[in-house]
Amino acid sequence: SAEADLACSAAPIHLVTRPQRRLQSQNTHKGEFGDVGVLGGAPGMEGAAMLASSAALHSGAGRVMLHLIGSTGARPSPLAPDIMVRGLSDLLAQRGALVCGCGGGTAIAAVLLQVLARSGPLVLDADALNAIAAAPALKQALAERATHGATVLTPHPLELARLLACTTAAIQADRISAARQAAQQLQCIVALKGSGTVIAAPDGSCAINHSGNARLSIGGTGDVLAGCIAAHLASLPSEAQAAHPPLWTQTWQRVLNAVWLHGHVANTWDLQHRAQPTLTASRLAEALPRQA
Ligand code: AMP
Ligand code: MG
Repeated sequence: SAEADLACSAAPIHLVTRPQRRLQSQNTHKGEFGDVGVLGGAPGMEGAAMLASSAALHSGAGRVMLHLIGSTGARPSPLAPDIMVRGLSDLLAQRGALVCGCGGGTAIAAVLLQVLARSGPLVLDADALNAIAAAPALKQALAERATHGATVLTPHPLELARLLACTTAAIQADRISAARQAAQQLQCIVALKGSGTVIAAPDGSCAINHSGNARLSIGGTGDVLAGCIAAHLASLPSEAQAAHPPLWTQTWQRVLNAVWLHGHVANTWDLQHRAQPTLTASRLAEALPRQA
């Protein structure tokens, strides 16, 4: 309706800006920077979970723990020794932020109810989003999770189209409305990726990010974003992480910071390297700055 259109256009849309540096004391330990758990990486797609883990590590998470879906947990880490391998129940029991879905395959669906019931900041990406789109019960569990912890969804246009049961063309025709609708319906912060990532929150907040460039159009950069966001959420004070309902404003600023920094690395890379070398997702993860 015209009235609804008016209400929508009246809500301000912010521009994401460079994060402010936080003051850091000398007397720190790894516990203050938070833990990130990563759940994904089904056989053949381990790389996606590894990229998310690496991004969390380089974004300054104190500790990063990984469970490769479908493994017994006894498999040695395929990653640098910086990442700890955990069994599923240990990973879900950890405090801190969780990234779920990167390279998760179809196996991720079976653990999602458990994941959604777990308190704490949660970033859902890729196959976790596909599984939720396909299962009404999971969709409902997601919307109801709003009372347990802040949730951030990082869909690309096709993943959001599946969640909203529409076409990718419809999403791209009005990215702001699509992100807002999903945020409201699913009670999550939604970062709709692509050139000009749109971030929307359940309270109606909306922002557009202008950092980043076409160098990011390569496999794995979305996994890097998910890990980066999780690291930024993990360093929220524990009171903020455990708040019921979630403290959207604190979570919101962390998500904006992570999205901006992810794109900024690509911009800096472009200035420094011009034609070569390619900005692979691994290089992107390693170039991420510690949190602002
Ligand atoms: P995914 O689609 O999951 O692989 O994620 C791709 C990531 O790269 C997202 O963070 C996108 O926003 C970003 N990206 C891809 N292409 C571009 C582009 N042309 N300009 C800016 N960001 C991009
Ligand atoms: Mg992706």
